Amino acid sequence: MKNRRILLCDMNSFYASVEQARDPSLRGKPVIVAGNPETRNGIVLAVSKEAKAYGVKTAMVLAEALGRCPQAIVVRPHMQLYIDVSVHIMSIAQQFTDLVEVYSIDELFIDPTGTERLWGDAWEVARQFRQAVMDTVGIRCSIGIGPNKLVAKVCADVEAKKAPEGIAEWTPDDIPTKMWPLPIRDLFGVGSRMEHNFSRMGILTIGDLAKYPKRHLVKRWGLMGEVYHLSANGIDYSPVTPTTFQNAMKGVGHSITLARDYEDQREIEIVLLELTEEVCRRMRAMKKAGKTVNVYVRDADMIHGFARSFSLPTHTNITMDIYRGVLHVFRKFWYGSSVRAVGMGVTNLADDTEMQLDLFNDKVRKRALGYTMDRIRAKYGSTALMRCASLTKAGILPERASKIGGHYA
Ligand SMILES: [Mg+2]
Repeated sequence: MKNRRILLCDMNSFYASVEQARDPSLRGKPVIVAGNPETRNGIVLAVSKEAKAYGVKTAMVLAEALGRCPQAIVVRPHMQLYIDVSVHIMSIAQQFTDLVEVYSIDELFIDPTGTERLWGDAWEVARQFRQAVMDTVGIRCSIGIGPNKLVAKVCADVEAKKAPEGIAEWTPDDIPTKMWPLPIRDLFGVGSRMEHNFSRMGILTIGDLAKYPKRHLVKRWGLMGEVYHLSANGIDYSPVTPTTFQNAMKGVGHSITLARDYEDQREIEIVLLELTEEVCRRMRAMKKAGKTVNVYVRDADMIHGFARSFSLPTHTNITMDIYRGVLHVFRKFWYGSSVRAVGMGVTNLADDTEMQLDLFNDKVRKRALGYTMDRIRAKYGSTALMRCASLTKAGILPERASKIGGHYA
């Protein structure tokens, strides 16, 4: 990972830009992409830069948006078109290198390491990619360049969007001066809940978190505490990984289609805990530990949803370490939809003996506890030991165990 320069490319006002690219009469005009234009109670999904100038924002109710910008042209979303354009943009990136990771429908990471003789340095790749996207799909993008994915993303959000050329770069030297003064919510992966937790600890900026004693963070959040400490210091070891369906299926995973739609965050998180418990039990049975956590959510329509991954700093098969990673991904990407199916999995597996036992004092004890619980379950059935949360109405474990012929102790 030494001396890499990673690009995060973010399409500006993506859905609105696609609409303007396909219909020249919309160019230069305030455009709002939203459902239900007739009833005006739809939600704003995207806003062209001309409409942003009037204070219209994503996620506003349409009536409020039109109050701010009555002359805006409202367009219904064309999701399939946006997906097609997104795939096209990915194929443009793949002309530079195979190391392209799709992060969302309008963001992707590029690791151009090793292509210097073909394309020039990271700035050259950024310029050429940006131009190619403009020439072929007619959309502007902002590009952040950093020593890793985390810094590239923060740089794109904070500086590249305002840069005249649409490109900015942060080196490790920029971390104390440019990243540390930022509010904690600007850190990759810190949502409103974590922002609240941190503010109660007196952590208001990324710099406050960087200087907070690591052992306290680890004591409270396990391996995720370690991740927060590294992130605030601008350190991120996760490589740019081409996301393919085959990759997602590797490793150990478990998913379930729910008997009804789940809307309550707490209920969905309980199901994720049960799936995590099962997956960690299987990893321990295989004497394996994993590093990359994958989370999958399908909405009630069974079309929308998300699949995202996140890498922990070390391998683990401790349920709560993996579960905190799962929650980290879920809380970042879940947008409050009703959920019909959820899944999680762990990839990047290694033999359990490779676990870094010296990292945390009580890791050995937690591992031993995991293996002991597994032995009891193997002897008496999967419901013999359950976390209390599984006994609430959201729990799927007792019902499933009885359905598949499991027995109660
Ligand atoms: Mg964007």
